Amino acid sequence: MDANTNQDFIRDIVKEDLASGKHQFITTRFPPEPNGYLHIGHAASICLNFGIAKENESAKCNLRFDDTNPSKENTEFVEAIKKDIQWLGFDWDEREYFASDYFQKLYGFAMTLISQEKAYVDSQTQDEIRANRGTLTEPGTDSPYRDRNPQENTKLLEEMRSGIHRPGSHVLRAKIDMASPNLNMRDPVMYRILDTPHHRTGNEWPIYPMYDFAHGLSDSIEEVTHSLCTMEYEDHRPLYEWFIDELKVFKSRQIEFGKIFLSHTILSKRNLSKLVESKLVSGWNDPRMPTISGMRRLGYTADSIREFCRRVSITRRWNTAEIELLEHCLREDLNKKSNRALAVLRPIKLVIENYPEDQVEYLEAANNPQDGDSGTRKIPFSKELFIEQDDFMENPPKKFFRLTVGREVRLRYGYLITCTEIIKDPITDEILELRCTYDPETRGGNAPDGRKVKSTIHWVSANHSINAEVRLYERLCLDPEPDISDGNSLETVLNPNSLEIISSAKVEPSLKESTPGNPIQFERLGYFCLDSEDSNSSNNLVFNRTVSLRDSWSKIQSQT
Ligand code: ATP
Ligand code: MG
Repeated sequence: MDANTNQDFIRDIVKEDLASGKHQFITTRFPPEPNGYLHIGHAASICLNFGIAKENESAKCNLRFDDTNPSKENTEFVEAIKKDIQWLGFDWDEREYFASDYFQKLYGFAMTLISQEKAYVDSQTQDEIRANRGTLTEPGTDSPYRDRNPQENTKLLEEMRSGIHRPGSHVLRAKIDMASPNLNMRDPVMYRILDTPHHRTGNEWPIYPMYDFAHGLSDSIEEVTHSLCTMEYEDHRPLYEWFIDELKVFKSRQIEFGKIFLSHTILSKRNLSKLVESKLVSGWNDPRMPTISGMRRLGYTADSIREFCRRVSITRRWNTAEIELLEHCLREDLNKKSNRALAVLRPIKLVIENYPEDQVEYLEAANNPQDGDSGTRKIPFSKELFIEQDDFMENPPKKFFRLTVGREVRLRYGYLITCTEIIKDPITDEILELRCTYDPETRGGNAPDGRKVKSTIHWVSANHSINAEVRLYERLCLDPEPDISDGNSLETVLNPNSLEIISSAKVEPSLKESTPGNPIQFERLGYFCLDSEDSNSSNNLVFNRTVSLRDSWSKIQSQT
């Protein structure tokens, strides 16, 4: 198998069905409910459904919004979902569908089932319906309204549709079997009355189809051949098939697969929307969120997310993927794509005493050593520089090879310098400035006499550098598998130090030209990108740290 192809049991089925001639054309669909933004688990489903369409000439994938629950859905979510799928590299051409487009058809199906005595209007209260449903060990009890005749049911459903009944007064139920061992088959509700306006149909419909009634039939209407969904719908399959068999309409084949989860984070739109609503994060696209929009803002590339989904693959079991694998895919991609730059997060001034006062040299640096076509740039070098506070120690331990008084280090792309003196605040004793000398013979970083220098540090020219805010992100949750079972508040699983803001970093002048989609490696510090929301001018640069340089995935691999 080619290391870069996608393979899993569902793609095998698709291949077989095409080879055997069972299907000439394959149709899949991605069916989000527009009640939140998409997360990394959805990305796996997108890569599966749209991926199959991309990989097979005779396959296509529909985008269908499952919008049957008007109180939680809105157009903002519809737009965000579309943007994310496109950004991931997929498209649905003109096949953008909504379950709400099928409301009239679904209503017709309901009427047909009533006429076949396969559906009835139940006028029990919600509590009665729940109580009469039975349990896993006990059968349910038939509703006293179960034997209403088709005329009465038709009239009642028409009245419900015309809006004269109050929410909760009636529901339409399928007439299947109150004693079925599968609870989904115990006369499930097909329609409820809601006085909530819908983001697309407005006030046109006072009744709304339940997901279980609408979903399988929407697949059928679109003639979806392979309806791919997650395992929790396995027990719903008999119900979807029941509707299809009773109505004698196109039959889709439903295939279930295991959900993908990610360590050190929480998925599920329910919890993510709680984070947003309680303002524990700045929004759905907060860079700490496992949403596609959050990851994009943090600096993830679409290629790296697709590669992660390919490596995690699709199986029948649920799968918590290690976030280290995701970050590994990201680093691999960013290493290829990122231009390098010099930036100092926590600056300390360094003065080169023997460097001419007003001289500026422009040192040449490769933009990306991984990419021969990326060209070079000139970095200004002068008498006064900033270096990282961390790269200097007054009383260094044995293994510290960076700058200290009396030691020579290399400035990246520049000269060898030796620290000669520390200037301190006479009152607070704080280090204000470092004094150094440079060896003019060492431009480019090597001494003509071949003497060895252990360490190379980064820097920016004090007078040429520009100010920037830098946001350092850590994982959303410290625990690899945060316990968000009921009773545990979301707050308690969040990493309290997931964001550190550095407001006065100094970066090389070329970064004035950055744009949000362009990854940058700040040398020795990590991969960064311009923040798409808050970085609004070259006087107000905000960079997000996408991921640090150190890869912990190979370590995890070697342990297993
Ligand atoms: P969540 O439970 O996270 O809120 P959902 O299943 O309610 O997700 P939908 O909008 O209904 O969200 O999902 C759209 C599609 O994405 C469905 O086909 C669903 O099976 C799939 N999907 C959702 N979560 C995952 C996941 N963690 N892994 C793989 N596929 C997923
Ligand atoms: Mg869902």
